[in-house]
Amino acid sequence: MIDSHVHLNRHEFGGEAGAVVERARAAGVTGFLNVGYDLDTSQASIDLAERFPDVWATVGVHPHDALLLADDQGRLTPEGGARLARLEEMSRHPRVLAIGEVGLDFFRDLSPRPAQRAALAAQLELAARRDLPVVFHVRDAWDPMLDFVDEVGLPPRRGVLHAFSGDARAVDWALERGFKLGIGGVVTYRQSTLPAMVARAGCDALVLETDAPWLPPVPHRGQRNEPAHVRLVLDTVAGILQMEPGEVERRTDATFAALFQPGKAVTP
Ligand SMILES: [Zn+2]
Repeated sequence: MIDSHVHLNRHEFGGEAGAVVERARAAGVTGFLNVGYDLDTSQASIDLAERFPDVWATVGVHPHDALLLADDQGRLTPEGGARLARLEEMSRHPRVLAIGEVGLDFFRDLSPRPAQRAALAAQLELAARRDLPVVFHVRDAWDPMLDFVDEVGLPPRRGVLHAFSGDARAVDWALERGFKLGIGGVVTYRQSTLPAMVARAGCDALVLETDAPWLPPVPHRGQRNEPAHVRLVLDTVAGILQMEPGEVERRTDATFAALFQPGKAVTP
């Protein structure tokens, strides 16, 4: 059972990443993809991956921080160019499996949309150059996002639509193009439309995640999330698909392995 999206570097975990990883292992978690969202957290993800043999890293700049790379007119800045070069250098680390999280966030709009698009385009190019899959963050921007990726070109190694919250069109878009859906704690929420999308996508289009410390599943809402809780996501997905949890575990693990190829990530 793999947590394909976690932020063990967050201050919410204090200095306890070791204890959090231990608890998750005891709950059956065999791998963690620690996702960066700016330069510092990309480096922190690499540091964690060097410290724990079952943790891997991604490097990338989140749409909230798109101004690190581009200006409000959507032009890459000189400082942004230097940061992209630094990201590329980090992406060569053997335990970095993907570029991300990158994408569009029109819900919080913490950076101007032209900057978000420019930062995304530059990092999709990086993913293509480095032959790495992409971890996407999309919020209230599904149609713009899917159209944008079609327009600029699909990343050759595809990727995951993390914290999937799209509609049927987004599911079908992903299925047709070979992208996977990242399913986390939201699937356990009573009012969620996600179960219907999970059923539409089918088991082999899914990877499991927690997004810890955020988005805790039922019955942990309002608390700090932990990678150990990916078990609750697994059980809920199995219920939706009317499958044995063990079968869902085996197949989502296989999907993760085929997409991210952690076996190639040699410990330095
Ligand atoms: Zn995240």
